[in-house]
Amino acid sequence: MKTGFSPWAPRVVMAWWGKISPPTWPRSPLSRPGSTAPASASDRRHWFRRPIAEGSSEAPAPAPAPAPARSDKQSRGRRQSSFSLMPKRLDVRGEVCLSVSGFRELNRRRAAAGLALFANPRNAAAGSLRQLDSTITAARPLQFFAYGVGDASSLAIGTQTELLAMLAATGFQIIPHSRVCLDLAAVIAHFHFLADSRHELPFEIDGMVLKVNDLAQQKRLGAKARSPRWAVAAKFAAAQAVTRLIGVDFQVGRTGAVTPVGRLEPVKVGGVTVSRATLHNEDEIRRKDLRLGDMVLIQRAGEVIPEIIKPVVKKRQGNETAIKLPTKCPACAMPLVRKAGEVVRAVRRCENPHCAAQRLQALGHFCGKAGLDIKGLGQKVVEQLVQNALVNDIPDIYRLQPQQLAALAGWGEKSAKNVIAAIAAAKHPKLARLLAALGIRHVGEVHAQLLAQHFPSLTHLQQAGEEDFLKIDGLGPAVASSLVTFFSSAATSKMLIALRDLGLRISPDDDRGQDRPLHGQVFLFTGTLSHFSRDEAKARIKELGGQVATTISRKVTHLVCGQKPGAKLAKAQEMAIIILEEADLRTILAS
Ligand SMILES: [Zn+2]
Repeated sequence: MKTGFSPWAPRVVMAWWGKISPPTWPRSPLSRPGSTAPASASDRRHWFRRPIAEGSSEAPAPAPAPAPARSDKQSRGRRQSSFSLMPKRLDVRGEVCLSVSGFRELNRRRAAAGLALFANPRNAAAGSLRQLDSTITAARPLQFFAYGVGDASSLAIGTQTELLAMLAATGFQIIPHSRVCLDLAAVIAHFHFLADSRHELPFEIDGMVLKVNDLAQQKRLGAKARSPRWAVAAKFAAAQAVTRLIGVDFQVGRTGAVTPVGRLEPVKVGGVTVSRATLHNEDEIRRKDLRLGDMVLIQRAGEVIPEIIKPVVKKRQGNETAIKLPTKCPACAMPLVRKAGEVVRAVRRCENPHCAAQRLQALGHFCGKAGLDIKGLGQKVVEQLVQNALVNDIPDIYRLQPQQLAALAGWGEKSAKNVIAAIAAAKHPKLARLLAALGIRHVGEVHAQLLAQHFPSLTHLQQAGEEDFLKIDGLGPAVASSLVTFFSSAATSKMLIALRDLGLRISPDDDRGQDRPLHGQVFLFTGTLSHFSRDEAKARIKELGGQVATTISRKVTHLVCGQKPGAKLAKAQEMAIIILEEADLRTILAS
């Protein structure tokens, strides 16, 4: 039987549990959880670090399952006492990691089976978690290292160190190289120690995380849109290689910014073959005195696009040529402008509102995953629609007719019908979703969410001034001014009116239920349940924020399988829907 990777697949939890080593206390002078003597206030103002495991994917962990019975009485006693301190529900954060030896073993097995090899532990770990079939994930030698919890306020602890000790005592594996540092000099010393000894560790790390130890201070420091203010990552120098720069492409982005991208002779860096690297902007090209044909030092850190650090000047042969910087938009030939006051002044922009390249990127963004996520309208399809003059702006998407699509090369009636249905389904977006899709400069998903929380409708946004936007915690002057520019433009008004006339309506943001444990999960039943009636089960699912479907579709996340299941079971297996037995469902509904 298949179970997906999900907090609601108890079998997966138990598989991990089996791999977790017995609890060990970290080397720390601070008090253990449950101790009546809390760490003193001065103790808590320490820096705390943990290494960043490189072969890892950060993922929230399932709440701890009950410990299996052990013969060791002392150990059992410790586990039970730490469980008695536990809240009913605990959201544990951590990283899934693949050790170097596990990675080698995995690749050895793949080579034997004639499968493609993984480039590095990080990709292998991330790829393992993306598997739809959890039996594949379970077969990979993954480890889970816990480093935090969603909300520590219900726990009787005051510091990060105590939190780790508690997690370790509960049975979670924690990274054993955490240290408490009393000052910045100690932090730097430990950074160098880790950098020097990193290759002796059983897993790859690419840096360390520095955290404020005192949880009360963490709370006071709070968080920015994407990251907490009380934690910062310090990365080691990244993997580097030398190769030849054979060309430079200038790409026009959604906001008109022109970005140079270097074409390279393919080279392996940190286990990955690299043939393109960012040059950031033209000032960087000048500052580094890069020339076509240069041997260049490139660097790759994490999953980001590699960058060119510098030319290797002593390898020059005299036939290298200057990189010609465009003064006109490579797409629409409009003169490019550099504006003072830009966050990055060196960015040259095409300001032509009708620039084909920008329009294409903007349309692709609107239909893409960061936008309204209209199935079947990927960037390539959008390009085809624009080339065939079917789509020129966003409202045109809603004007598409099935017969127009069906007549295009590579399309049929069925695919045309599906895309038209997907477009119709995108007529009722949430406000935040639409704002992110419109591609307003500086306004990403997080800002869009903030705006939707403060403004009930598009009309309110159109009427707001800069000072209204600046009142929102998390929105800066650049965002505020960009919003005013966008909403006060005649083109925007015209577009929004057109969208409304075409039937686009904002659907109300139903926040209720988002905190409930089954929010976003859709259950479907097949077969007979023995411990409760279907109606009882359905009522409980709804109480916990879940939904119940009556027919199988892509929306269904879980199929509950009773005795004598029907045809839905085979269908669900085909669609990789998580399949639950009645016992699994009872565990879930007991939460
Ligand atoms: Zn242009």
